[in-house]
Formats: sequence, C-alpha cells, structure tokens
Amino acid sequence: MHNAKRARAERAKSEVSLYEVPDDLDLREETYPTDLVCGCRIVQRLVSADFALVYFAIVWAKKVDVDEWEEQYSCDTGHGHFHEHVTGYRKPNDARILRPLYSHVDVQEFFDRGYDLVQDRHDQNCGGGH
Ligand SMILES: [Zn+2]
Repeated sequence: MHNAKRARAERAKSEVSLYEVPDDLDLREETYPTDLVCGCRIVQRLVSADFALVYFAIVWAKKVDVDEWEEQYSCDTGHGHFHEHVTGYRKPNDARILRPLYSHVDVQEFFDRGYDLVQDRHDQNCGGGH
C-alpha cells in the first residue's frame, strides 16, 4: 500500500516535463555585449518568441588577445535547467544544475539571478585592473 503510493508519487513527479525551447516558433536572437573597464566583457545572448524570453545565456569573457576572448564562467537555461558552467566550458563536465525549468516564465524569472551570478563571479575572480 505504502509502496504503491510512493511509486505513484514518483511517477507523477517524473511526468512533469522540463522546459525546452520550442522549435516550431519564430525565434529571435539578440546578443548584447557589455564592456567592463578591466577589459572583460559580459555577454547576454537572448532568444525570444513572440516577445517572451525563451532562452538566455550570460557569459563572462576575458580578453586574452586582440579580438580573442576566453570564456571564464557562464550560465544559461538550456536543456530544461537553469545551470552554470563553472569554467566557461574550458573543462569538460563543468555544468552545475541550479534549478529545473518548467516554462518560459521560469526562464524570465531567473534572468536577473543569472546576471548577478555572472557579475559576482567576475568581481570576485577577475583580479585585473579594477
Ligand atoms: Zn574583469
């Protein structure tokens, strides 16, 4: 009895599907780089459909050469989860899940938090020219 109940609850939980960007909509992608005084850059990549935000990525990139940028840290909302890449993809398996996403409303909701995460990570680790 107890086990059947638990099994049902588990099943219900796994049936809630995670949010994926729909591929049948007209998607509009925009990129906004913000240059910081130290020479770093925070880049926002925003994908929207019908004026609703359906995906974002926010990246801290460091300038390592003329026109050459190296990602240090990023967070994004791909694959149904708000997650961070703690080395900015420089090392494999650097993704850490922060929160599951169930709709585009969640994507919108985590945007400010994502920007703060990237900004804080930069401020604590840049070490250059501030
Ligand atoms: Zn910097």
